[in-house]
Amino acid sequence: MPRGGKRYTLDNLLTKWNYVQKKIQNKDLYIFLDYDGTLTPIAETPEKAVFPSKTKAIVEKLSMLPWCRVAIISGRSLKDVKAKVGLDRIIYSGNHGLELEGNKFSHMAAIPGSFKAVLDEVRVMLENRLSSFKGVLIEDKGLSLAVHYRMADKKDIMTIRTVFHESIAAYLVKNKIKIKQGKMVLEVRPVSEMDKGKVVLWLLARERFIDESARVFPIYIGDDATDEDAFFALRDIGLTVFVGDASHGFIHAQYMLKNTAEVMKFLTLLLETHRESR
Ligand SMILES: [Mg+2]
Repeated sequence: MPRGGKRYTLDNLLTKWNYVQKKIQNKDLYIFLDYDGTLTPIAETPEKAVFPSKTKAIVEKLSMLPWCRVAIISGRSLKDVKAKVGLDRIIYSGNHGLELEGNKFSHMAAIPGSFKAVLDEVRVMLENRLSSFKGVLIEDKGLSLAVHYRMADKKDIMTIRTVFHESIAAYLVKNKIKIKQGKMVLEVRPVSEMDKGKVVLWLLARERFIDESARVFPIYIGDDATDEDAFFALRDIGLTVFVGDASHGFIHAQYMLKNTAEVMKFLTLLLETHRESR
């Protein structure tokens, strides 16, 4: 199937629970979770997105089950997402797959040394050109930059996006950077193959390498454009779930959940099912 996808309405996962439950029963699970907009409601600024304690408790319980692995796959920097989630027994990926860390391993995508200098140049330029707009937040995520405009005036958004594109165009043409777009955020990233889909496949392959008999069933839950890479990567081998209003476009996920509260409901169901069936 071409990557373009097709427009279709996604079923709410909770309404298909009976079917899904049979599919995953008695299987080892690898649960991949995005953070912002999936586990925690999107906040005005990234700092304000605090992990709700109830959800945290459920994720922690899931991570302690011997037949369950949990990984958080976020666009935040690794350091930031680890601090926000604050759980020990899980795997973290930051910067949309560029950074990865588990209990006994860590990995950082190979980024040319010159990239950091480019990123600094771009940051200074964006700071200069965008500082006159109220509510624009430029975040240095180490391996990438994020320009958040959620707090900006609606009337300025088109201009902010235009200034962003004009500022980075020369770097883009020379293939020195890549850009990515999320919800009310524009990102400047290294030209790397790594994305959320590749990191998920890498983690699954690692699981099979360690234990050849491992037959883990992957579940991926995410709410943003960058999660599409993971939905696409797992489309035939796992359960993929989009969080939010799925009616607007081309989403490669199989199911949807309305919001973070429904994600919590689903994770609770997973926890209970496995308790019953083992
Ligand atoms: Mg998200």
